[in-house]
Amino acid sequence: MGYLHRLKRWLIVTFTNWFVRLTKRTKAEEPKTLNVLNEPIEVFPFSTNSHILAQVTPIGTILWNQSRTEDFSETTKECILRHELSHKKRNPILRGLVYGTTMWCAGGLITVGLSIGLLLEGAPLPAVGVVFALGVLLISVFIAAVRVDETIAEYDAFRYLGEGKFIEAHQELSDVGETGFLTRIWVRLVYPTTDEIITIHRGIQRIQSKFTA
Ligand SMILES: [Zn+2]
Repeated sequence: MGYLHRLKRWLIVTFTNWFVRLTKRTKAEEPKTLNVLNEPIEVFPFSTNSHILAQVTPIGTILWNQSRTEDFSETTKECILRHELSHKKRNPILRGLVYGTTMWCAGGLITVGLSIGLLLEGAPLPAVGVVFALGVLLISVFIAAVRVDETIAEYDAFRYLGEGKFIEAHQELSDVGETGFLTRIWVRLVYPTTDEIITIHRGIQRIQSKFTA
């Protein structure tokens, strides 16, 4: 390996390790290769009981929640990987939008907090209402951007696996379930259900058949 190549690799590994430390509050393990797709995929394993099973970092490396995924079937692992590879493919464009609107969300949360503060201070309700509505709008734009990104990722996984294997994988995923109340709200807000993905697929098929008929 040339010097530049080694430097690039070092930067990728270092960034990913820090990303795991900061966002997962744990240490990344040595990168490993998963062989559940046609081609081998490198992942950076970590182990927490977080609801996040896998994640693409801003530089395109894939984090893999080792302890929560090791008992999954090959089909479920394939479904998770296809989902993450779909995110990775879109990294520069739509993901940029998702990262961008994260700032909006932070601003929205502050604004909602501010409106509650104003209300407690005895500010007139219509004025507080305007501030509150602005905060909710900022948060909604963020949730909508994430939901679009997650829906495309799920639909990509669906297309690779086919309906039968996709349903099978999601059955196993829902058996694991989510514990935290806030996590469940978040999951419901940003992830489409299996039925919604199938409905989208049928809709696209109908449109395609109109154009090819
Ligand atoms: Zn996702």
